[in-house]
Amino acid sequence: MIHRPLMRLAGTIRGLLLASSAISILTTGAIVAQMLWLSRIIHNVFMEGASLSDVRIPLLYLLGTIVARTLSIGISQSVNQRGAIRIKTALRRRLLDKLFGAGPAMIQHERTGELASTLTDGLEKIDAYFSRYFPRALHVMIAPPCIAIVVFAMDPLSGAILLFTGPLIPVFMWLIGGMAEKRTQKQWTAMSRMSAHFLDVLQGLTTLKLFGRSKEQEQEIRRISNRYRLTTMGVLKIAFLSGLVLELAASLSTAIVAVQIGVRLVEGHIPFQLGLFVLLLAPEFYLPFRQLGTEHHAAMEGTAAADRVFEILRMPTLSSPTHPIAPPPTPFDLRLLQVSFAYPGRPEPALNDISTTFRHGEITALIGPSGSGKSTLFHLLCRYLDPESGAIHAGDTDLQDIDRTTWRRLLAVVPQHPSLFHGTVLDNLRMAKPDATLDEVREMAQLAEAHDFITRLPDGYETSLGEQAWRLSGGERQRLAVARAFLKNAPILLMDEPGANLDPESEEKLARAFERLARDRTVIVIAHRLRTIYRADRMVVLDQGRVVEEGTHNELLNQNGAYARLLKGDV
Ligand code: ADP
Ligand code: MG
Repeated sequence: MIHRPLMRLAGTIRGLLLASSAISILTTGAIVAQMLWLSRIIHNVFMEGASLSDVRIPLLYLLGTIVARTLSIGISQSVNQRGAIRIKTALRRRLLDKLFGAGPAMIQHERTGELASTLTDGLEKIDAYFSRYFPRALHVMIAPPCIAIVVFAMDPLSGAILLFTGPLIPVFMWLIGGMAEKRTQKQWTAMSRMSAHFLDVLQGLTTLKLFGRSKEQEQEIRRISNRYRLTTMGVLKIAFLSGLVLELAASLSTAIVAVQIGVRLVEGHIPFQLGLFVLLLAPEFYLPFRQLGTEHHAAMEGTAAADRVFEILRMPTLSSPTHPIAPPPTPFDLRLLQVSFAYPGRPEPALNDISTTFRHGEITALIGPSGSGKSTLFHLLCRYLDPESGAIHAGDTDLQDIDRTTWRRLLAVVPQHPSLFHGTVLDNLRMAKPDATLDEVREMAQLAEAHDFITRLPDGYETSLGEQAWRLSGGERQRLAVARAFLKNAPILLMDEPGANLDPESEEKLARAFERLARDRTVIVIAHRLRTIYRADRMVVLDQGRVVEEGTHNELLNQNGAYARLLKGDV
């Protein structure tokens, strides 16, 4: 079960693997010594009639070898676990870096469930690979050859049998393993799909209930679980089969060794003590193979999970400028120069040759039907994505030359569905400015029309949100997000208006708050509501990734084109 990327990972814990190999050699030495003393004691007692006191010293030696064997096994387990944890931690960090680096734009919503299962279950499988399978594979390469050499040196015939039958076992395993591997991969896919589905269903449970579709989902879940059960049983069947073959091969080989020693003992061709020693050692020769066989399943699961992990690690990341320059002093305009962008695997571009200017001190409304590229444009402005061709300029500076984090400090974003984090209202607001005083926070909340509803919460600003955040309505969440944006006091404001209808009072409050926030800033809003659109200074109408119209409300209305049609359809 050689898996290139996993081997490379193993290279990162070379020291621990070396230690593990050294311990394997010690264990093997202890086993050989144990059998040597055991056969000697038995020989002395039964063949030469030695008394207990005669064999007291050899018994102590025997005890010593047993203790040494047990100790070294325990130590090797802890060493192996340490290596596995180190690899798992490093991988987890790389995965998280990757996901953060790729940004929210590349993580499609449908795949969050699958990602979550890769980050948890997937890494545990890789842990099992390194803590259980890999050390045993190492041990197989060390212990049986050492034992075979010892046996061969003392009794060439038995040694030859071991040398001949030993390699047969890996060959059998390999034959069966090929069959099992495909199935394990299928099982892994089925499991990922299942968890992705569960998460989606959980996230959409209210909607499902609302539309009376939960019964169908129940059946769907039953169907998916059933498929998972069948693939799992398929994998287990093969696992049991391979276990059976392995045990059979090991028993048969041990029997062959035993029979030939028995025959030679009867004919007096081999001394009793030597025969006994070889007989005791033979099962120890096959033991590592059998142990490896029981971990075969772990190995296959580990490689299947690793395939998925490395697929994620291969996702394109955003490059950062080698010599980042400072962003221009405010105020500046944002200019898009022939910007195009296509998502990987999508033939048609999400944005196609967009050129427009977002002026300082103006509110620009981005409008267009769903799928026209509004969110993609936002992701570009937040620099979660980079333009494929063309450039975005802040004043005269290309955004590509500015460090991403530095750039994002200039942005305040009010997303469509603002996330609230575990913590109090105050914590959630202070996220935008950790050192904000309580008065400052209050003032901004007032500007955002959020202060009133916050004081009506059970503990006011100290009310904890998070899991219970559902108590806030959509409008309230948005106003919290707006208050956050006020606190951040950034020169550029991006807002994605909630598409769902708010109650008229919330809508009015939000619009008033927003207008206050918009003063003396560059504001770009994905607008869904007429109220917001009327307040904007300029409209940019997108359709299928292109700017189809831009201008003021009156200009566009007079053109009687796409904008006029959108207004009629109530955007
Ligand atoms: P809007 O916000 O105007 O609804 P989007 O910018 O979300 O439009 O989408 C523009 C186009 O890009 C659509 O065709 C959409 O299917 C596609 N798209 C959006 N996000 C992704 C993604 N993460 N991966 C692939 N295609 C995407
Ligand atoms: Mg969108």
